[in-house]
Amino acid sequence: MACVQTVLGPIAPEELGLTLIHEHVMVDFVGADKTGPHRWDREVVARTMQPYLQAIAAQGVTCLVECTPNYLGRDPELLQGLSRATGLHLVTNTGLYKEPYLPPWAFDLAPEALAERWIAEWEQGICETGVRPGFIKIAVNPGPLLPIQQTIVRAAAIAHLATGLSVMCHTGHAIAAQESLDLIEAEGMDPARYIVAHADGIEADPTAAEDDHVALLRRGVWLEYDGIGWGPLEKQERLVLAALERGYADQILLSQDAGWYHVGEPGGGEVQPMTALLGQFAPRLRAVGVSEPLLTRLLVENPRRVLRVG
Ligand SMILES: [Zn+2]
Repeated sequence: MACVQTVLGPIAPEELGLTLIHEHVMVDFVGADKTGPHRWDREVVARTMQPYLQAIAAQGVTCLVECTPNYLGRDPELLQGLSRATGLHLVTNTGLYKEPYLPPWAFDLAPEALAERWIAEWEQGICETGVRPGFIKIAVNPGPLLPIQQTIVRAAAIAHLATGLSVMCHTGHAIAAQESLDLIEAEGMDPARYIVAHADGIEADPTAAEDDHVALLRRGVWLEYDGIGWGPLEKQERLVLAALERGYADQILLSQDAGWYHVGEPGGGEVQPMTALLGQFAPRLRAVGVSEPLLTRLLVENPRRVLRVG
Protein backbone atom coordinates (compact mmCIF):
# COMPACT_ATOMS: atom_id res chain seq x y z
CA MET A 1 0.00 0.00 0.00
CA ALA A 2 1.35 3.41 -0.97
CA CYS A 3 1.75 5.78 1.94
CA VAL A 4 3.37 8.95 3.21
CA GLN A 5 5.31 8.33 6.40
CA THR A 6 4.60 10.98 9.05
CA VAL A 7 6.00 11.14 12.59
CA LEU A 8 2.68 9.73 13.83
CA GLY A 9 2.64 6.87 11.33
CA PRO A 10 1.78 6.19 7.70
CA ILE A 11 -1.10 7.98 6.02
CA ALA A 12 -2.67 7.66 2.58
CA PRO A 13 -1.02 10.09 0.11
CA GLU A 14 -4.48 11.49 -0.68
CA GLU A 15 -4.68 12.81 2.90
CA LEU A 16 -1.99 15.36 2.09
CA GLY A 17 -3.30 18.73 1.00
CA LEU A 18 -1.20 21.89 0.90
CA THR A 19 2.31 20.83 1.88
CA LEU A 20 5.42 22.82 2.80
CA ILE A 21 8.18 20.55 1.51
CA HIS A 22 11.20 22.21 3.16
CA GLU A 23 10.97 23.93 6.54
CA HIS A 24 12.64 23.64 9.95
CA VAL A 25 11.20 23.47 13.45
CA MET A 26 14.58 23.41 15.15
CA VAL A 27 18.26 23.60 14.15
CA ASP A 28 21.37 23.23 16.28
CA PHE A 29 24.49 24.46 14.46
CA VAL A 30 26.89 23.71 17.32
CA GLY A 31 28.52 20.76 15.51
CA ALA A 32 28.21 16.98 15.52
CA ASP A 33 30.57 16.52 18.47
CA LYS A 34 28.55 18.75 20.80
CA THR A 35 24.89 18.51 19.79
CA GLY A 36 22.34 16.30 21.53
CA PRO A 37 19.03 16.41 23.37
CA HIS A 38 20.79 17.88 26.43
CA ARG A 39 21.12 21.10 24.40
CA TRP A 40 17.39 21.98 24.34
CA ASP A 41 14.25 21.83 26.46
CA ARG A 42 11.66 20.10 24.32
CA GLU A 43 8.73 21.83 26.03
CA VAL A 44 10.21 25.30 25.55
CA VAL A 45 10.94 24.61 21.88
CA ALA A 46 7.40 23.30 21.35
CA ARG A 47 5.87 26.31 23.09
CA THR A 48 8.00 28.68 20.97
CA MET A 49 7.31 27.02 17.64
CA GLN A 50 3.66 26.08 18.03
CA PRO A 51 2.29 29.53 17.05
CA TYR A 52 4.31 29.42 13.80
CA LEU A 53 2.80 26.05 12.95
CA GLN A 54 -0.66 27.24 13.89
CA ALA A 55 -0.19 30.21 11.53
CA ILE A 56 0.41 27.93 8.55
CA ALA A 57 -2.41 25.60 9.60
CA ALA A 58 -4.66 28.69 9.53
CA GLN A 59 -3.54 29.25 5.91
CA GLY A 60 -4.77 25.78 5.03
CA VAL A 61 -1.45 23.91 5.18
CA THR A 62 -1.92 20.24 6.11
CA CYS A 63 1.67 18.99 6.14
CA LEU A 64 5.14 20.31 6.94
CA VAL A 65 8.27 18.42 5.95
CA GLU A 66 10.93 19.02 8.59
CA CYS A 67 14.34 18.97 6.95
CA THR A 68 16.68 19.09 9.95
CA PRO A 69 18.94 16.04 9.71
CA ASN A 70 20.54 13.96 12.43
CA TYR A 71 23.38 15.80 14.29
CA LEU A 72 21.78 19.14 13.37
CA GLY A 73 18.89 19.08 15.83
CA ARG A 74 16.57 16.38 14.52
CA ASP A 75 14.12 15.49 17.31
CA PRO A 76 11.30 13.11 16.28
CA GLU A 77 9.60 13.29 19.69
CA LEU A 78 9.43 17.08 19.53
CA LEU A 79 7.75 16.74 16.14
CA GLN A 80 5.31 14.13 17.42
CA GLY A 81 4.19 16.49 20.20
CA LEU A 82 3.79 19.39 17.78
CA SER A 83 1.88 17.27 15.31
CA ARG A 84 -0.60 16.25 18.03
CA ALA A 85 -0.90 19.84 19.27
CA THR A 86 -1.47 21.45 15.86
CA GLY A 87 -3.14 18.73 13.79
CA LEU A 88 -0.46 19.16 11.09
CA HIS A 89 1.13 16.13 9.49
CA LEU A 90 4.87 16.39 10.15
CA VAL A 91 7.52 14.38 8.31
CA THR A 92 11.09 13.78 9.48
CA ASN A 93 14.10 12.26 7.75
CA THR A 94 17.05 9.92 7.84
CA GLY A 95 20.48 10.74 6.39
CA LEU A 96 23.39 13.04 7.17
CA TYR A 97 24.36 16.67 6.51
CA LYS A 98 27.88 17.86 5.63
CA GLU A 99 31.03 18.97 7.40
CA PRO A 100 31.37 20.12 10.20
CA TYR A 101 28.08 18.48 11.09
CA LEU A 102 29.21 14.92 10.49
CA PRO A 103 30.08 12.43 13.24
CA PRO A 104 33.64 10.98 13.01
CA TRP A 105 32.39 7.44 12.34
CA ALA A 106 30.83 8.59 9.05
CA PHE A 107 34.31 9.02 7.57
CA ASP A 108 35.18 5.36 8.18
CA LEU A 109 32.16 3.83 6.49
CA ALA A 110 31.66 2.68 2.91
CA PRO A 111 28.47 3.90 1.20
CA GLU A 112 26.82 0.49 1.74
CA ALA A 113 27.49 0.56 5.50
CA LEU A 114 26.24 4.12 5.81
CA ALA A 115 23.11 3.22 3.89
CA GLU A 116 22.55 0.28 6.27
CA ARG A 117 22.11 2.70 9.16
CA TRP A 118 19.50 4.73 7.26
CA ILE A 119 17.69 1.62 6.10
CA ALA A 120 17.58 0.47 9.73
CA GLU A 121 15.92 3.76 10.72
CA TRP A 122 13.30 3.18 8.04
CA GLU A 123 12.70 -0.40 9.11
CA GLN A 124 12.89 -0.02 12.90
CA GLY A 125 12.40 3.67 13.57
CA ILE A 126 14.82 6.35 14.76
CA CYS A 127 16.66 5.26 17.95
CA GLU A 128 14.13 4.19 20.56
CA THR A 129 11.35 6.51 19.35
CA GLY A 130 9.91 4.12 16.78
CA VAL A 131 9.38 7.17 14.52
CA ARG A 132 10.13 6.32 10.91
CA PRO A 133 11.56 8.80 8.40
CA GLY A 134 9.52 9.97 5.41
CA PHE A 135 12.51 10.82 3.20
CA ILE A 136 16.31 10.84 3.06
CA LYS A 137 18.01 14.20 3.67
CA ILE A 138 21.61 14.76 2.68
CA ALA A 139 23.85 17.70 1.79
CA VAL A 140 26.80 18.36 -0.47
CA ASN A 141 29.53 20.97 -0.45
CA PRO A 142 29.59 23.53 -3.29
CA GLY A 143 31.77 22.74 -6.32
CA PRO A 144 33.36 19.38 -7.05
CA LEU A 145 32.24 16.92 -4.38
CA LEU A 146 34.56 16.03 -1.51
CA PRO A 147 35.16 12.28 -1.00
CA ILE A 148 32.94 12.16 2.12
CA GLN A 149 30.12 13.88 0.23
CA GLN A 150 30.45 11.40 -2.62
CA THR A 151 30.10 8.61 -0.06
CA ILE A 152 26.99 10.24 1.40
CA VAL A 153 25.36 10.74 -2.01
CA ARG A 154 26.02 7.13 -2.98
CA ALA A 155 24.72 5.94 0.40
CA ALA A 156 21.53 7.92 -0.17
CA ALA A 157 20.97 6.24 -3.54
CA ILE A 158 21.56 2.79 -2.01
CA ALA A 159 19.17 3.56 0.87
CA HIS A 160 16.60 4.86 -1.62
CA LEU A 161 16.73 1.64 -3.64
CA ALA A 162 16.14 -0.39 -0.46
CA THR A 163 13.37 1.78 1.02
CA GLY A 164 11.69 3.72 -1.79
CA LEU A 165 12.20 6.96 0.13
CA SER A 166 12.96 10.05 -1.96
CA VAL A 167 16.28 11.81 -1.47
CA MET A 168 16.48 15.53 -0.80
CA CYS A 169 19.94 17.03 -1.21
CA HIS A 170 20.95 20.44 0.12
CA THR A 171 22.78 21.70 -2.97
CA GLY A 172 22.46 25.24 -4.31
CA HIS A 173 25.38 24.80 -6.70
CA ALA A 174 25.24 23.65 -10.33
CA ILE A 175 28.44 21.58 -10.46
CA ALA A 176 27.63 19.86 -7.16
CA ALA A 177 24.10 19.11 -8.39
CA GLN A 178 25.32 17.62 -11.67
CA GLU A 179 28.02 15.55 -9.94
CA SER A 180 25.59 14.20 -7.35
CA LEU A 181 23.25 13.23 -10.18
CA ASP A 182 26.05 11.35 -11.93
CA LEU A 183 26.61 9.40 -8.71
CA ILE A 184 22.99 8.45 -8.05
CA GLU A 185 22.50 7.42 -11.67
CA ALA A 186 25.61 5.23 -11.44
CA GLU A 187 23.98 3.53 -8.44
CA GLY A 188 20.86 2.89 -10.50
CA MET A 189 18.61 5.48 -8.88
CA ASP A 190 15.91 7.25 -10.91
CA PRO A 191 16.48 11.05 -10.77
CA ALA A 192 12.68 11.41 -10.53
CA ARG A 193 13.12 10.53 -6.82
CA TYR A 194 15.92 13.07 -6.24
CA ILE A 195 15.31 16.63 -5.06
CA VAL A 196 17.88 19.36 -5.62
CA ALA A 197 17.13 21.60 -2.63
CA HIS A 198 17.98 25.31 -2.66
CA ALA A 199 17.92 25.25 -6.46
CA ASP A 200 16.95 28.94 -6.42
CA GLY A 201 20.42 29.55 -4.94
CA ILE A 202 22.16 28.17 -8.03
CA GLU A 203 24.36 30.85 -9.63
CA ALA A 204 24.00 34.59 -9.18
CA ASP A 205 23.74 35.53 -12.85
CA PRO A 206 20.09 35.16 -13.89
CA THR A 207 20.84 34.01 -17.44
CA ALA A 208 23.35 31.40 -16.34
CA ALA A 209 20.91 30.24 -13.68
CA GLU A 210 18.19 29.55 -16.20
CA ASP A 211 20.53 27.44 -18.32
CA ASP A 212 21.71 25.49 -15.28
CA HIS A 213 18.15 24.87 -14.17
CA VAL A 214 17.03 23.61 -17.57
CA ALA A 215 20.08 21.35 -17.76
CA LEU A 216 19.09 19.79 -14.44
CA LEU A 217 15.38 19.54 -15.27
CA ARG A 218 16.24 17.70 -18.49
CA ARG A 219 17.84 14.98 -16.36
CA GLY A 220 14.50 14.41 -14.62
CA VAL A 221 15.20 15.71 -11.10
CA TRP A 222 13.03 17.82 -8.87
CA LEU A 223 14.15 21.41 -8.46
CA GLU A 224 13.15 22.85 -5.10
CA TYR A 225 12.79 26.62 -4.98
CA ASP A 226 12.75 26.89 -1.21
CA GLY A 227 14.11 30.36 -0.42
CA ILE A 228 10.73 32.04 -0.75
CA GLY A 229 10.33 34.90 1.71
CA TRP A 230 14.05 35.51 2.36
CA GLY A 231 14.40 38.21 -0.29
CA PRO A 232 12.57 39.82 -3.20
CA LEU A 233 10.06 37.36 -4.64
CA GLU A 234 10.92 38.26 -8.27
CA LYS A 235 13.71 35.71 -8.43
CA GLN A 236 11.61 32.66 -7.59
CA GLU A 237 8.74 34.01 -9.66
CA ARG A 238 10.98 34.23 -12.73
CA LEU A 239 12.39 30.74 -12.15
CA VAL A 240 8.96 29.18 -11.62
CA LEU A 241 7.47 30.87 -14.68
CA ALA A 242 10.46 29.80 -16.80
CA ALA A 243 10.04 26.19 -15.67
CA LEU A 244 6.28 26.27 -16.31
CA GLU A 245 6.75 27.76 -19.77
CA ARG A 246 9.15 24.97 -20.67
CA GLY A 247 6.72 22.29 -19.48
CA TYR A 248 8.42 21.25 -16.24
CA ALA A 249 5.52 21.87 -13.82
CA ASP A 250 5.75 18.30 -12.55
CA GLN A 251 9.36 18.73 -11.38
CA ILE A 252 9.04 21.90 -9.29
CA LEU A 253 8.68 22.09 -5.50
CA LEU A 254 8.15 25.31 -3.56
CA SER A 255 8.97 26.09 0.06
CA GLN A 256 10.60 28.61 2.39
CA ASP A 257 13.41 26.92 4.34
CA ALA A 258 12.04 29.00 7.19
CA GLY A 259 11.38 28.81 10.89
CA TRP A 260 13.35 27.45 13.46
CA TYR A 261 14.20 27.49 17.04
CA HIS A 262 17.92 28.32 17.08
CA VAL A 263 19.34 26.05 19.76
CA GLY A 264 21.79 27.96 21.94
CA GLU A 265 20.26 31.39 21.33
CA PRO A 266 18.13 33.10 23.99
CA GLY A 267 14.46 32.25 23.46
CA GLY A 268 15.35 30.34 20.31
CA GLY A 269 16.55 33.48 18.49
CA GLU A 270 14.70 35.10 15.63
CA VAL A 271 12.22 32.75 13.99
CA GLN A 272 11.35 33.33 10.33
CA PRO A 273 7.59 32.82 9.80
CA MET A 274 6.54 30.18 7.29
CA THR A 275 3.65 32.13 5.80
CA ALA A 276 5.21 33.88 2.76
CA LEU A 277 4.57 31.09 0.26
CA LEU A 278 0.79 31.11 0.66
CA GLY A 279 0.46 34.67 1.91
CA GLN A 280 2.55 36.45 -0.75
CA PHE A 281 4.03 34.18 -3.37
CA ALA A 282 0.95 32.18 -4.41
CA PRO A 283 -1.08 35.41 -4.88
CA ARG A 284 1.75 36.76 -7.10
CA LEU A 285 1.60 33.67 -9.28
CA ARG A 286 -2.20 34.01 -9.54
CA ALA A 287 -1.79 37.66 -10.51
CA VAL A 288 0.47 36.76 -13.47
CA GLY A 289 -1.98 34.16 -14.71
CA VAL A 290 -0.96 30.87 -13.07
CA SER A 291 -4.22 28.91 -12.88
CA GLU A 292 -5.67 27.36 -9.75
CA PRO A 293 -5.20 23.78 -11.04
CA LEU A 294 -1.56 24.55 -11.79
CA LEU A 295 -1.05 25.97 -8.29
CA THR A 296 -2.62 22.82 -6.87
CA ARG A 297 -0.13 20.77 -8.86
CA LEU A 298 2.78 22.73 -7.41
CA LEU A 299 1.60 22.91 -3.80
CA VAL A 300 -0.40 19.70 -3.33
CA GLU A 301 0.15 17.10 -6.03
CA ASN A 302 3.93 17.45 -6.46
CA PRO A 303 4.74 17.12 -2.71
CA ARG A 304 2.30 14.21 -2.50
CA ARG A 305 4.06 12.45 -5.39
CA VAL A 306 7.55 12.99 -4.06
CA LEU A 307 6.70 11.84 -0.51
CA ARG A 308 4.79 8.78 -1.67
CA VAL A 309 6.44 5.49 -0.75
CA GLY A 310 5.45 2.14 -2.23
ZN1 LIG B 1 16.81 23.70 5.09
